[in-house]
Amino acid sequence: MKVFKINNPNSINNQIINQMALMGHEQIVFCTDSKTNLKAIIAIHSTVLGPALGGTRMWNYDSESLALNDVLRLSRGMTLKASISGLNLGGGKAVIIGDLKKIKTDELMKSFGRFVDTLKGSYITAEDVGITTHDMEMVKSETPYVTGIPTYLGGSGDPSPVTAYGVYMGMKASAKYKWGSDNLNEKKIVIQGVGKVGLNLIKYLKQENSDIYINDLNGDILKDISKKHNVKIIDSDKLYDFEMDIYAPCALGATINDFTIDKLKCKIIAGAANNQLADENIHGQMLFERDILYAPDFLINAGGLINVYSELNGYNQKEALSKTKEIYKTTLEIFNKSELEKITPYQAAMNIAQNRVESNI
Ligand code: NAD
Repeated sequence: MKVFKINNPNSINNQIINQMALMGHEQIVFCTDSKTNLKAIIAIHSTVLGPALGGTRMWNYDSESLALNDVLRLSRGMTLKASISGLNLGGGKAVIIGDLKKIKTDELMKSFGRFVDTLKGSYITAEDVGITTHDMEMVKSETPYVTGIPTYLGGSGDPSPVTAYGVYMGMKASAKYKWGSDNLNEKKIVIQGVGKVGLNLIKYLKQENSDIYINDLNGDILKDISKKHNVKIIDSDKLYDFEMDIYAPCALGATINDFTIDKLKCKIIAGAANNQLADENIHGQMLFERDILYAPDFLINAGGLINVYSELNGYNQKEALSKTKEIYKTTLEIFNKSELEKITPYQAAMNIAQNRVESNI
């Protein structure tokens, strides 16, 4: 057995287990494979309600601690998402660290699949940012614990269209609560991030004749989508100051923070991104005090999870869409609970999700 010497033991973060305990995680698996340059972290937050299901994200994190922080928060979010959606699933997530354009290969994805397999189904993976159905096919060649695989392999395919449908339902419920009607006709809506979910959301909002603005870091995608779908572009430096009815964050998390809240002029925030609140203890309350209605991310972006959950029991798209439609009703229930108990909608949703997990322990 090789012994690797650690030159400076103090440089190793000794707070990881404390952090896990604080956030309620069961297990974290750190994975490396020098042959493929794989560096990954799999976090299992909870298996109380069922196997920990959650996507794999590939991102070029600036540091390992940022990657760890991301996977800890995302996996906990999956527990809440499954719980509030009434699914018999726990919460987990994985991150692969690195620039996908430089290091992602079929061999790397297969190597990751072998690590997933060692967990024997306590963690089931799926797609997330930076990962495609082809990548999942590679993972599937090494382990059965995968969802969101292509339809020709018997899977449910890309979950993003169903995620977008759920976000649309959450957005309509928010409009109903805020304005008394769920009609989004002529509402000025900014979609930040027009990737797999954002693009599908545009299609629903076009049917409503909403006044759609889009933003993305990728200028080529932006121009192409703007032209094809006849929607307007808003530049990143103007986005948070823009007078709009609804802000739909569909890129990455933490866009609702100390810096942006003071600028935001929207009435509703309803989008697909995970962990939109930079600090859930502070920023949910700040939105509440500013009378900005916030549709909890883990509630309204659950469509994709509902879709891959259906795949575990023999995929049925009709059932998955019908269950996703229920997000409308649950979102309204959350807003009413928030009003009644004078707590933020985020807290109201958390309480319901946590109670379901705790009553099963
Ligand atoms: P994606 O990678 O297909 O698209 C994300 C888009 O956001 C890309 O076009 C990217 O260029 C853009 N982007 C990244 N950072 C940005 C920034 N700072 N400003 C503007 N644009 C930026 O991802 P996706 O599958 O569409 O998912 C979008 C979000 O929704 C993610 O946070 C993801 O975790 C969450 N989510 C997705 C699903 C799903 O089914 N795909 C399910 C639940 C939650």
